[in-house]
Amino acid sequence: MAILRRHERRRKARWKGKKKVPVSSIRHRFADTGTRFGKFYQPAAASTLEEKLADAAEVHRLTGTCPSVAVHVLWDFRPDQDPKEVVRLAESFGVRIGAINPNVFQDQEYKLGSFCSPDPVARKKALDHTLYSIEIGRAVGSTLLSMWLADGTNYPGQDNIVRRKHDLEAAFKTIHDAMPPGMKVLIEYKPFEPAFYHTDIADWGMSYVLAKHSGPNAKVLVDTGHHLPGTNVEHIVAFLLDEGMLGGFHFNDKKYADDDLELATIDPYAVFRIFNVIAQHEFDTGRKPEIAYMVDQSHNLKPKIEAMIQTVDMAQILYAKAQLVDRKAQAVAQQACDIVAAERYLVDAFQTDVRPVVAEWRKSKGLPVDPLKAHRESGYVERVAKERTAAREARGEVQSSSFA
Ligand code: MN
Ligand code: MN
Repeated sequence: MAILRRHERRRKARWKGKKKVPVSSIRHRFADTGTRFGKFYQPAAASTLEEKLADAAEVHRLTGTCPSVAVHVLWDFRPDQDPKEVVRLAESFGVRIGAINPNVFQDQEYKLGSFCSPDPVARKKALDHTLYSIEIGRAVGSTLLSMWLADGTNYPGQDNIVRRKHDLEAAFKTIHDAMPPGMKVLIEYKPFEPAFYHTDIADWGMSYVLAKHSGPNAKVLVDTGHHLPGTNVEHIVAFLLDEGMLGGFHFNDKKYADDDLELATIDPYAVFRIFNVIAQHEFDTGRKPEIAYMVDQSHNLKPKIEAMIQTVDMAQILYAKAQLVDRKAQAVAQQACDIVAAERYLVDAFQTDVRPVVAEWRKSKGLPVDPLKAHRESGYVERVAKERTAAREARGEVQSSSFA
């Protein structure tokens, strides 16, 4: 028992040294969302940027670790709007603008792709929009340009895959070189969907190669849901960290495909293992890598703010657990070829209940110990549901739930 208690004290000491908890930037999904088959409405869902920022601020107020909001250029900026106005609006809510997401997948021209499309008009439109997004990013002081492409083909023989690759490389080089100093482009990958035969940036290796061809300010973005079943995501993360090529995450969880469920709803141990390789990297190198932690989830059924609070809570807890691995002792076990002991250091940390230390950390920051409970008791959702329903009616908005 004494040994266990000593262990416990050491763990607490390790955790206390790492007061910073991870989710520093969220991609808001506070608006109405749905599946491929329909959109499901919530009276409290945000429809305007102002409402999205208010919701993001509510999550930050309760969790203390989500100070920035990722934005979609097409959805969140009106063409006639001064980007500085958006900055001021965010500031008035106590949050700031995080990653800028160009949208090169929604318009009709992109039916056959954006940078990879066989149609030069589509390619030019995609590039112009991305360069415009960089200007928006510059104006709002964002340091991240986050790129996800829907490019791919549905049929073997539909297009020349290598021609597409070359156009993609040229576009990313142009984008990279157009960025102001201090801005990074993060290149996201995904194995399939919306394309079902081939995707132009299908995995981390392709993102890595594109980033390398682009220049030093291009990095890989790991969306935890964008892997085929069975992929060892933490291996990819460790590999990219060692190469200095990990730019950031889009957090979510999945059971089957790109499900966009809340982080760790299906497999908390998998998320713990990702935080573990990051903590290991810090231990091995003595350096804290610059990683953009973002949330990319679709809260179709759960109330959106509650889903986001659950996500942040889980991220904080799993991050804390990953700090508890006794890395010195584990290294000794590894060198002694004692695989059982080496694994146990990991499992032991995962099994430790860190809720009391996370609660202490929250208290020390003046945050509610139970953010979900505090949110429910605040009456925020009931209030904004009334206000937003009235505002939608005043704007004469008709809600149509079908994508078909
Ligand atoms: Mn994503
Ligand atoms: Mn996705």
